Amino acid sequence: AAELVTLGETMALLAAPRVGLLRHMSSLDLSVAGAESNLAIGVSRLGRRAAWLSRVGDDEFGRLVTATIRAEGVAVYAVVDGTAPTGLMVKERRTDTATRVQYYRSGSAASRLSPSDVDESLVRGARVLHVTGITPALSATARDAVHAAVESARGAGVAVSLDLNYRAALWDAAAAGAELRELVARADIVFATGPEARLVVSGDDEATLAAELEKLGPRQVLVKRGSRGVVGLLDGTAYDLPAKPVRAVDPVGAGDAFASAYLTEWIGGAAPAGCLHAATVAGAFAVTVPGDWEGLPSRAELDLLGAEPDDDVQ
Ligand code: ATP
Repeated sequence: AAELVTLGETMALLAAPRVGLLRHMSSLDLSVAGAESNLAIGVSRLGRRAAWLSRVGDDEFGRLVTATIRAEGVAVYAVVDGTAPTGLMVKERRTDTATRVQYYRSGSAASRLSPSDVDESLVRGARVLHVTGITPALSATARDAVHAAVESARGAGVAVSLDLNYRAALWDAAAAGAELRELVARADIVFATGPEARLVVSGDDEATLAAELEKLGPRQVLVKRGSRGVVGLLDGTAYDLPAKPVRAVDPVGAGDAFASAYLTEWIGGAAPAGCLHAATVAGAFAVTVPGDWEGLPSRAELDLLGAEPDDDVQ
């Protein structure tokens, strides 16, 4: 049985290979993108059994999505929906540092996720259910699917992990804030950035935001600060961990890498400080390699970057 179960949309990704307007590209690189599958792949690479629930279209992009995730050792439970296409994401590199993203996901197969797609026995048999703030923004039925999964988990004593993951292209801050507040109250572990936390609670700094989120119910709250590290309020103890100093080449994917390592260590029974350390190393790792998930570390690689600078590491 899977130790971690997650659900959400994974899209085909068409990425411009170089800087410039999309219309001047003669080809685009094809891969896949989805926060929840990124997380499942991260957990799988670190050695724990992960499952991903979704819907894809009966099309080549859908087959690419499921084949890619399956090839990473993740158990794929994806309904093939013959009536809606797999969602698409297009990435344009307008300048060296500015990336523009365009979604073609409204009405996608995954936006039709519904409670009947949630395999209750799979969720009940896991150690952790991981959900994000993206899935409830896809549609009313997708939102219901998230809540159905969360209720199954809670009923069976399975920990609920939530990454707020606000996507401004999908819904406005007020709608997101109300929905995320409900999910925070039903979660055990919450990952957020400062701006995401402010959709739900208020506070001047990350430590205050973590404390305010914790008051809503979760036992473990992590407020991420990019290259400035992370603030955690974990089982009643406050932590403030700096980021690992690395040369960042691609900031996207750090959050998913961070959460996947945190949850992998949590499943393994590590104490909060150990989970936080592994998460920080994985987050740093992710920014040093291009791609959202392709560079996610294996356990051996995590140990490599996690070693102290004085250690004899090649
Ligand atoms: P994403 O860009 O994937 O959405 P996020 O905004 O959810 O990420 P971040 O705060 O950017 O999350 O990153 C998560 C963690 O990864 C940070 O708390 C930190 O430990 C690590 N990290 C992020 N950026 C860097 C960096 N430039 N250098 C070192 N570590 C980093």
